[in-house]
Amino acid sequence: MVTSVTAHVRIEEFLCRGSGLCEAMSPELFALAKARHAAALQPELTDPELISLAHTVAECCPTEAIVVTETGEGTAAAR
Ligand code: SF4
Repeated sequence: MVTSVTAHVRIEEFLCRGSGLCEAMSPELFALAKARHAAALQPELTDPELISLAHTVAECCPTEAIVVTETGEGTAAAR
């Protein structure tokens, strides 16, 4: 059965300390903005590999500022 999942990636700016870890781990998904907090470069993901990467980076963020939620068939997960 083929499932279609979309991951939504956002940065809680009030939690972000601008460490740059997310950008270092995944420059295709995150970048530090001029305001010294990170931004999600691809706020919606459908590629399973990128979704997995987004979860991994979120788990490594020292302030838990990266939030990844998933919507789609049979899935409702959030970190
Ligand atoms: S790893 Fe977390 S705290 Fe560091 S820049 Fe990225 S979102 Fe901000």
